[in-house]
Amino acid sequence: MRQPGRHFLQIPGPSSVPDRILKAIGQQTIDHRGPDFADVGKAALDGMKTIFKTNQHVFIFPSSGTGAWEAALVNTLSPGDKVLMFETGHFASMWSSMARKIGFTPEVIEGDWRGGAEPDRIEARLRQDTHHEIKAVCVVHNETSTGSVSPIEEIRKAIDAAGHPALLMVDSISGLASIDFRFDEWGVDVCISGSQKGLMLPPGLSFNAVSEKALERAKSVTMPRSYWDWHDMVGPNSNGYFPYTPSTNLLYGLNEAIEMLHEEGLDQVFARHARHGASTRAAVRAWGLEVLCARQGDESGVLTAVLVPTDYSADNFRATTLKHYNISLGNGLSKVADKVFRIGHLGDFNDLMLMATLSGVEMGLEKAGIPHQSGGAQAALDHLKQSTTCPSDTQNS
Ligand SMILES: *Cc1c(COP(=O)(O)O)cnc(C)c1O
Repeated sequence: MRQPGRHFLQIPGPSSVPDRILKAIGQQTIDHRGPDFADVGKAALDGMKTIFKTNQHVFIFPSSGTGAWEAALVNTLSPGDKVLMFETGHFASMWSSMARKIGFTPEVIEGDWRGGAEPDRIEARLRQDTHHEIKAVCVVHNETSTGSVSPIEEIRKAIDAAGHPALLMVDSISGLASIDFRFDEWGVDVCISGSQKGLMLPPGLSFNAVSEKALERAKSVTMPRSYWDWHDMVGPNSNGYFPYTPSTNLLYGLNEAIEMLHEEGLDQVFARHARHGASTRAAVRAWGLEVLCARQGDESGVLTAVLVPTDYSADNFRATTLKHYNISLGNGLSKVADKVFRIGHLGDFNDLMLMATLSGVEMGLEKAGIPHQSGGAQAALDHLKQSTTCPSDTQNS
């Protein structure tokens, strides 16, 4: 049946793609080895350095984010190498199971899925590792299954405080371009990202930002690799080209996205996401429901995971809101399946879109018979009215 009006894609990635980017992607595909391509490739590779905040290396793969996870591991480790991972949620668990599948030895610090990675626990484990068997520490920056953020700068300090040479690898697939990230300043060795979250693109591009130290390490490790090999990228990339066919049209879109992010200003983008996260949490509190992220200060500006009361089905609630209000909300993954729903407030998003989203959630709670108090959308509206980081306030005055 036809549903009039626009669909609200409020899952925490893919985020909805702005018209400017759709238009850029719609341009004719060109010869990826021809003279005109160099400008496209260079703009993308150089532009992404400004998003990662690095003067080191950025590699772009035609793959989903999962591919860039694999690239990070196979370029920096030898078969059997031990990596220390922190279980912040579903995505951290998936990354460690990938590491095991392809022949590494992940050691997982268990977490309760209610906050970010804890630097002191990482430091304590590294201090015990006197023979330096751990080759890398892997953490998820924004854990998309729980809505928690890990303190990357503090984790680097913890590694240094332990005097440990392990590389720091960070999955910022859903954090980059939505919450503050500083590759060089924070001393990250490999950052993994993807196109379909904060970067506002369709799925299909992934990224590795790579430190000199990690690129050097890649020369001596013995893990077999081919498609993901950083070293095959370096030569062609220096002129804006790629060793195999890149996703030309998504690169058009990426260059548009980078321009849009800088037009708004990265700091504004981060403030906007933080503000929408706070407004959403105000709504959840007013409904009398619980935010999954329980550690104060770790809450994400990208998404909010909300626990439904025991004995109620989050998936049934999501199906009801989709059917009646034409809005897609994120589902609970693995351990929290059917127990939480996730509200995405990332990417090309503004106050009115947030209000429509939260109104849809509130009407859905009512329709699905989930016990709650009304007034959540009003609480978010009050928060929006009182907080003043709206970019247009400063730009147009
Ligand atoms: C989306 C996401 C992934 C998976 O990326 P794909 O593009 O689906 O392969 C991994 N980690 C995090 C934190 C994510 O948000």
